Amino acid sequence: MMQAVRVRFAPSPTGPLHIGGLRTALFNYLFAKHHDGQFILRIEDTDASRYVEGAEKYIKNALAWANIPYDEGPEQEGKYGPYRQSDRKEIYAKYADKLLESGHAYYAFDTAQELNLQRVNYEAEKKTFIYNWHNRKQLSNSIALSQQEVHEKLRNGEPYVIRFKTPEKETLHMTDEIRGEIQIDTSTLDDKVLFKSDGMPTYHLANIVDDHLMQISHVIRGEEWLPSMALHVLLYKAFGWEAPKFAHLPLILKPTGKGKLSKRDGDKMGFPVFPLEWKNPETGDVASGYREEGYLPEAVINMLAFLGWNEGEGSEKEIYSLPELVEAFSLAHVSKSGSKFDPEKTKWFQHYYLQQEDNKKLATQYFQILEEKGVKTTIDYVTEVVKTIKERAEFVSDFWSLSSFYFEAPKDFDSKAAKKAWKENTTTIMVQVKEQLQKIEDFSQDSLSNNLKPWIKEQGIGFGKVMQPLRLTLVGEMKGPDLFHIMASIGKEETLKRIDYAINYFD
Ligand code: GLU
Repeated sequence: MMQAVRVRFAPSPTGPLHIGGLRTALFNYLFAKHHDGQFILRIEDTDASRYVEGAEKYIKNALAWANIPYDEGPEQEGKYGPYRQSDRKEIYAKYADKLLESGHAYYAFDTAQELNLQRVNYEAEKKTFIYNWHNRKQLSNSIALSQQEVHEKLRNGEPYVIRFKTPEKETLHMTDEIRGEIQIDTSTLDDKVLFKSDGMPTYHLANIVDDHLMQISHVIRGEEWLPSMALHVLLYKAFGWEAPKFAHLPLILKPTGKGKLSKRDGDKMGFPVFPLEWKNPETGDVASGYREEGYLPEAVINMLAFLGWNEGEGSEKEIYSLPELVEAFSLAHVSKSGSKFDPEKTKWFQHYYLQQEDNKKLATQYFQILEEKGVKTTIDYVTEVVKTIKERAEFVSDFWSLSSFYFEAPKDFDSKAAKKAWKENTTTIMVQVKEQLQKIEDFSQDSLSNNLKPWIKEQGIGFGKVMQPLRLTLVGEMKGPDLFHIMASIGKEETLKRIDYAINYFD
């Protein structure tokens, strides 16, 4: 029987979740749900020095906003909890001991100064210091020292670390679900620290132990963890455990394609790199978030899905709902090479998803903005306006500049447009237009159109000579939707008032 699919997203709460992290969570979720498996959130907070207040909450909020629910996680306990590593402290020491007993790990007592001195000496010879098979016998550890010396140091409470004893010369064959076969010569690896005498494991030990105990079937994570894969595979071997399958996702690159996407790229080009706004608790600096910028989670998710994945050759489909992504997702179609971040594409998705939003819902959001501006109106009226203008909008925050004239009369007129639209005889024409409009009882869009169009023809004035100054009069510039719709919406009285105002203004 195939092992049940259980995957985890295992962020360290060291700050806000980068959109790259959100993509990792998304791919894990998609993979899990595609295989009817479980998606687990595990908080990897063993490094207290890097812990940032509020980061865990941020991660959870970001997942909630993106509609990526987890089956198990902190405060969503399942059979394999707790799901926060700091709540699992007692577990790890036992496993470090196991490795010591089986000879896969050893105590090391080298102080920071001693190690520094080593580093300096190596550098003087233009070499890099690596703590492993080639020098471990000359350093201060339980391989070099006698048993008695080791016991004494431990009894005296000397600080120590437990290091992994990397095999000296072995060719390690590994498989990555995305990258295929990978080989590594173990003699190039260093003896990584697994455990410290303060009782805390390092990332490597805690990560492996937890993946094993939580019965994780696939480890799907960012490419930056690829260099750790060899150690992780060796650790599984050392424990005699079956390793999960590994899949390392491609990097997300700068829009130029050169190098990894960073917060600075976003700052420079004006797009967020975080799902939600984040206020640095220490500096008070605020980093912008997709949510606060007005993006819909569906747009961000759809955009992220395409950073490294597509349904396969020949597929032109770009719009995917979350259930459609679950259905279509496969690791086989995740690419090895980095994917360029394209802020314009995000806007394209955003435009699409904004069009799908319910008009009433958008109107409710716009209503708030209007209230703040002191505009008195009704939800029904705003809904009508939204219906007409949203095609031109990407964000709810675009609505005002696209539709202010539905709510208040223009005070000034765009001078360039005025020069073109308001000619010498325009005032006379507009007086006539006003008279004609006054006669119209049914001030609906259709009735206005059916009345005014033939009238213009009859007068032989020319359509543009009427409609252009009329647009300028009602909107303030040469933009906006159908004029008859605008007139019908603002009503007869307001239309006539605006015409009077323009006539006075240009006279
Ligand atoms: N805690 C690691 C991180 O912050 C997890 C890496 C992994 O998924 O193994 O990304």
